[in-house]
Amino acid sequence: MPELDGQAGQVGPGGQPGRERRIWVVPQLRDGRVTRVSWEALAAAGRLAAALAGSAPSIGTVRTLPAVPITAVLLGSGVDAAARELAQRDLAAVLVADHPVLAAYTPGAWIGVLAAAIGAERPDYVLFPHTYQTVDFVPRLAQRTGAGLLPEVTGFAPAAAPAGSPDGAATNTAGAGGEAAGDGLVWTRPVLGGKLQARVRVRGAGTVLVSVQSGSFPAAALPAAASTGPAAATPGAADGPAADTKLRLLPVDPAQARPDREVLGYEEAAAQQVDLTKAGIIVAVGRGVGGADKLGPIEELARALGAEIGASRPVIDSGWLPRERQIGSSGQTVSPRLYIAAGISGAIQHLVGMKGSAVIVAINKDPSAPIFTVARYGLVGDLHELVPALTAAVKAAQG
Ligand code: FAD
Repeated sequence: MPELDGQAGQVGPGGQPGRERRIWVVPQLRDGRVTRVSWEALAAAGRLAAALAGSAPSIGTVRTLPAVPITAVLLGSGVDAAARELAQRDLAAVLVADHPVLAAYTPGAWIGVLAAAIGAERPDYVLFPHTYQTVDFVPRLAQRTGAGLLPEVTGFAPAAAPAGSPDGAATNTAGAGGEAAGDGLVWTRPVLGGKLQARVRVRGAGTVLVSVQSGSFPAAALPAAASTGPAAATPGAADGPAADTKLRLLPVDPAQARPDREVLGYEEAAAQQVDLTKAGIIVAVGRGVGGADKLGPIEELARALGAEIGASRPVIDSGWLPRERQIGSSGQTVSPRLYIAAGISGAIQHLVGMKGSAVIVAINKDPSAPIFTVARYGLVGDLHELVPALTAAVKAAQG
């Protein structure tokens, strides 16, 4: 079983000589479709494959399979359409466990299927989207298979990567400066509710289970070799022989894959009335604004820019704005062309929801606030003075 710690390691996952490294991804489905965070896990796999092969992922030119093959492992019942959607991407294979015992997610059935497959094939990494479902069963899967566990990963980088390397959320780990571990990677994950960033290296041989935090590996920023992502879908293309040959049946033994919960049904959460994911400009407000009665200038700036208003979680929890305006790991994930963050400190749970924005402007009175690490423009000062000044400047520029 691999160990995870801050020490330099001897043998990384897949360190068995003469053996090809392999990455698996276990996507999740919603209404029969692969979820957005699952595409992000596939994007992370593409970057991991490039990193393990020793090359930074290149965007946009030659379409070749990654040197380290990526396999999707799909569980469910009647999942043919999703399997074919996956098979049309640059994956080495799609293993499909399609069985009535997998009709609804239960940890017992999922662990039964995956533990047997991992035990038989011993992939180096198995990536999951970090969701409530993952939190529910993956630690038990790690225990059952003797695998290492890296939960809620937000990035990884070669141990001596320079700042701003394009490797996932590598800016978080840049400058780690440590000695390379077996796989030569330093992984980043938040601890203590995001107050600290842990940098983790893997020691020892064996499979490592990795869950990938939402928003950390945008599916749109995939290397060409693994151009997965909902936008790349070509209806009908899955019917080609190349896609079909990638589909492999993963046997399901009902004696091992035992549903251990009775699913009574699912209730849809109230539909989002505000879809911030489509907003071109967002003015987001944090606890620093100081109260619901102080939102007027924020609304005025948003009006001047034609922007939507977003918020950090404390603003929502305090009832200053409705839940549908929350941005972050438990809110919406957005990527507008302009994101103005006023009075937001930049906790990881907020950053994962907005750091894909094209241009980020941060307004904060604390010059060491983490939000400035992702901002292109930083305004240090009191938002109650700076926001009205910004609004006046916008209006002046508009004539
Ligand atoms: P604070 O961290 O309190 O920061 C306020 C900032 O305002 C400070 O940096 C301060 O310097 C600045 N400030 C104060 N006054 C002024 C002023 N007059 N002018 C300028 N700047 C000023 N958070 C989210 O946002 N979204 C999520 O989806 C989310 N999900 C979470 C899920 C979990 C499981 C957990 C544990 C936490 C989650 N959080 C989420 C909470 C997150 O950890 C932070 O607590 C939160 O993002 C902090 O919000 P904030 O930046 O508004 O407040």
